[in-house]
Amino acid sequence: VNDIAPFLSKAYVRATAQWDVDLVKESAALAAPSSLLHGPRSWLVRGDLHLLWARWFAEGVADPERFVDEDNPFPLVLEQVLQHMPNVLPEHTHPERGELADAIAQLIVAESSRRRGSPGRRAWTRLEKEELWDASGSAPRCWICGYRFTDPARDRFLGKGGEADASPTWVDFLRPQGVHANELRIEIDHVGSLGAGGDEEALRLACGWCNRHKSDRGLTYDTRGVMKWFDHPDLGRVGVPHPFWVVRALAMHGQCDELSGCGNSIRDSEMTVAPRRMQGAPNPVNLQVVCVDHDPLVGKRLVLREEYLDRLSRRR
Ligand SMILES: [Zn+2]
Ligand SMILES: [Zn+2]
Repeated sequence: VNDIAPFLSKAYVRATAQWDVDLVKESAALAAPSSLLHGPRSWLVRGDLHLLWARWFAEGVADPERFVDEDNPFPLVLEQVLQHMPNVLPEHTHPERGELADAIAQLIVAESSRRRGSPGRRAWTRLEKEELWDASGSAPRCWICGYRFTDPARDRFLGKGGEADASPTWVDFLRPQGVHANELRIEIDHVGSLGAGGDEEALRLACGWCNRHKSDRGLTYDTRGVMKWFDHPDLGRVGVPHPFWVVRALAMHGQCDELSGCGNSIRDSEMTVAPRRMQGAPNPVNLQVVCVDHDPLVGKRLVLREEYLDRLSRRR
């Protein structure tokens, strides 16, 4: 059954029509066909949507920020969540509501304590940097994109002086690392992990480009609707993916999407992205992670940095 066409006819509305209440309500009543999302990023696109809904739901019941300074916030949070339960589960019994309230309160308390413990931005000591460098193997790379750090970058990171990396002559138009200053330098990334244990955190080395685009966002949907296009000398007008989409895809996959199987990973190779369909916009559904051996854009990817900046356009 082709259920995509009817879905698109309601949901793919013109930007001006997104302000039409009836149209949006019609779209909300549809179930998204499962075949709508396919390809290597489908789980990320769907997963991030669920994470966002879960976050908005739980934090909309009790804002974790309100409890950051409380020493024992659980009873307070639970009380607040319980008050809200008749709205969430009007048909359910008291014990069922209590069970859900307890689960929500635990999540909010954990998030609130994570925010309290979050060290914020501070300068790392030289010793901390040295320890992290030594623990990162013989040829450390960005943990997200696999970029191998240069010796001068290492020296500056470890406080041993040295020149800043010069702006590269050529840049990858889909992952334009090096267009701006400090994008090739070494930075420390705080990687929060929400494993079964909860609050484990790890420190990893990241390049300036990945770290900057990762830092202030959490999920695929946390991006503004600004699109950029590049007038490529051979390919014509091509979309430039939002840098956060690139970082999220790279960090969540870490290896090449080549179907026949590829042994390269970010531990030994630099990775970048390519649209699966060059004619399609480079959005999260249409991005694949590729290594240098499986790059469909070989010979076209690297463009002169100056030319990249000159031929960039944007539209809301
Ligand atoms: Zn990187
Ligand atoms: Zn590959």
